[in-house]
Amino acid sequence: MKKIVVKFGGSNLQTDEDLGRLLNIIEAYHQPLIIVISAFYGITNYLQDLIWKVQYDQHSVHAGIQFIRRLKQNILIKNVSKKESQDRILQKIDHLVEELERYLMGIHLIGEIPKQTEELILSYGERLSSLLLTEILNEKGLNAIEKKPEDIKLITTGNFGNAEIDYKASRVAENLSFDTLTVIPGFYGISSTGKVTLLGRGGSDYSAAAIARCMKADYLDIWKDVNGFMSGDPKIVKSPRNLERLTYTEAAELAYFGAKILHPRTVEPLIEPGIPIRIFDVSSCENTQKPRTIISHESQVYQTVIKSVTFSDDFGILQLEGPGVGMKPGILAHVTQALDKATINIKSVITAQTSINILLSLHDLDTAYEVTRKVISSVVSGLKIFKDISLIAVVGHGILETPGVAARIFGAVSRKNINIKIISVGASPVAAYFIVDKSDRDRAVKTIHEEFFP
Ligand code: ASP
Ligand code: MG
Repeated sequence: MKKIVVKFGGSNLQTDEDLGRLLNIIEAYHQPLIIVISAFYGITNYLQDLIWKVQYDQHSVHAGIQFIRRLKQNILIKNVSKKESQDRILQKIDHLVEELERYLMGIHLIGEIPKQTEELILSYGERLSSLLLTEILNEKGLNAIEKKPEDIKLITTGNFGNAEIDYKASRVAENLSFDTLTVIPGFYGISSTGKVTLLGRGGSDYSAAAIARCMKADYLDIWKDVNGFMSGDPKIVKSPRNLERLTYTEAAELAYFGAKILHPRTVEPLIEPGIPIRIFDVSSCENTQKPRTIISHESQVYQTVIKSVTFSDDFGILQLEGPGVGMKPGILAHVTQALDKATINIKSVITAQTSINILLSLHDLDTAYEVTRKVISSVVSGLKIFKDISLIAVVGHGILETPGVAARIFGAVSRKNINIKIISVGASPVAAYFIVDKSDRDRAVKTIHEEFFP
């Protein structure tokens, strides 16, 4: 029997019937699994908005709680027919919902949002779906148990909002087993002082990967509502190819630079133990034998070298200009230290003789500008930010070593008269990326895709 950790996400949990579909998938494995589940689609955002509202408005505590309770009740009724079972499970849901109500009320009473309470509240999306899935599995006679991150001692480094798993401190393997069908809420872990700490938005992929690592799983199976990794976004390119195999590095670059299939941190825990990630598509559901994409150390060489072209609009540039800024020691260090202090994550840095370009997430850009303005010296003659840009990433092993590939990428783009603002080749062994105006994004993606996948 293979040891399998399975992850279901919000995209698998959109309608009341979706849980039923997951049950079919779980049954089709014909063996016990460790299942990591995220919140229902949109619930984390809903809770996030609710937290803000309840600060000022007591009524929204009640309204929000009613909304969530009704949602869960509807799902329950769709998936469990016996009235006694419905009542019994609803009691458990109510218990959770009442806890949530108390925390929301607490926020209302103090009129502000302590970080640790915010994180705790946001974890209720996952707590509720994990409770429901466990109960419904049991109703179907599948004998499931629920274990929470606090039960399995999934310990984090403790920084709120974007915590990482601390493998040395975690005690997962002692508290979890592959012999019993087990459901675990994703998205959070527990700090060494016992506080709920979130693993970043979309973080239940990362929870599942961390658990797979701690448990020395044979596979991490991630179920999605899409075809797996593709050579390009089906909404933009003509006839994208399905990518059956990717290496960890390729998948990480694609995830980091925009492909929304995986949380960018998912691959990192699995590289060292070499646990393959298999991406499945729920719409070809019962087929637990046929992953759409397998991510592992094994690489598949394409004649074209290029495997996929992806993009992200969540990039902005902070540009420091001045004669010789690229040569002047210390400038970059000053700025990056200041940004780090303001907990702003730098996505990439591209330097030239006369400018330093720091790539950041869009939502950090204005703060980064303010922070930097205060620390720059007289060598910097201009400080600018650029917003309406897109980053295009072209990914594939061998992209740097194979003569002519980069030339083909940039040649194709320039023949279409698309203006490239910044290019970076060489920072990653498997990716080349460049920046264009957002209005040129689709044309650039299409052009490159046509060039390599005619
Ligand atoms: N529910 C969380 C989020 O929306 C975590 C996840 O979906 O993986 O960010
Ligand atoms: Mg999600």
